[in-house]
Amino acid sequence: PKTHQGRIAFVTGAASGIGKAIATRLAAEGACVVVADLDLEKAQAAAAEIGNADVAVGVAANVADAAAVQAALDAAVLAFGGVDLVVNNAGLSIAKTLLETTEADWDLLHDVMSKGSFLVSRAAASVLIEQGLGGDIVYISSKNSVFAGPKNIAYSATKADQAHQVRLLAAELGEFGVRVNGINPDGVVRGSGIFSSGWGADRAKTYGVKEEDLGQFYADRTLLKREVVPESVADAVFVLTGPELSRTTGVHIPVDSGVAAA
Ligand code: NAD
Repeated sequence: PKTHQGRIAFVTGAASGIGKAIATRLAAEGACVVVADLDLEKAQAAAAEIGNADVAVGVAANVADAAAVQAALDAAVLAFGGVDLVVNNAGLSIAKTLLETTEADWDLLHDVMSKGSFLVSRAAASVLIEQGLGGDIVYISSKNSVFAGPKNIAYSATKADQAHQVRLLAAELGEFGVRVNGINPDGVVRGSGIFSSGWGADRAKTYGVKEEDLGQFYADRTLLKREVVPESVADAVFVLTGPELSRTTGVHIPVDSGVAAA
């Protein structure tokens, strides 16, 4: 049998980029997946690309809205009979210096990433504890949770918040057999929403490269000289939530071709 056969995954922000790659990979490994995203049509379209309604369903959920999160999880449980693998992936970035960052920028990023992942983890944990079968919560944090980069004060602060949620929840949920781990990607350009937010365009300008060359630029500064793509992050989620790492919780795995180690 496939490693994730019988597992039921709930992936936020899964209509696009890294989240979509994660949902696609988990489904390929046998899981049923719930694609949760802001826009219902986009979530349903991504789910339809992944598989039929027995394998993938799309639900609308603004992760910053507690009632919407609860409704989406209820829909997931109704569709597949439970949830045992949750990926906090929904996010966005704003490329601004400290002096440029408005209160609204700060609130938006913290609402979606800090509060959003808290709300999703809280709603999911009550399902996981009640089921009594263990499970996984994975946070798609960032290299920026640990390292400084240009123009990302609010973004990096939310990612550091997510990293601490990983450690706190690993401690609190360990006795229920729930692993809580994080992934720190960096430099995912191709296939991600990095340009729709203006972040990629700003980075290209900052580093003096053309937008279409940004992926290669990031790859060149890594130890492995390899571009990080959404599928690289999906690979890490697959391994982290699989049977081999059954004794691993509360950690972050870099998926950055070695840039954080450089
Ligand atoms: P993306 O824009 O392609 O995907 C993000 C998805 O999240 C979108 O589908 C968007 O609609 C959804 N989303 C945004 N706000 C939401 C909300 N309030 N509720 C529900 N869904 C919401 O971007 P991506 O690059 O695939 O990013 C995915 C995650 O990976 C983010 O958390 C991001 O911070 C993190 N990350 C990305 C990179 C990178 O290099 N691209 C690096 C490190 C971390």
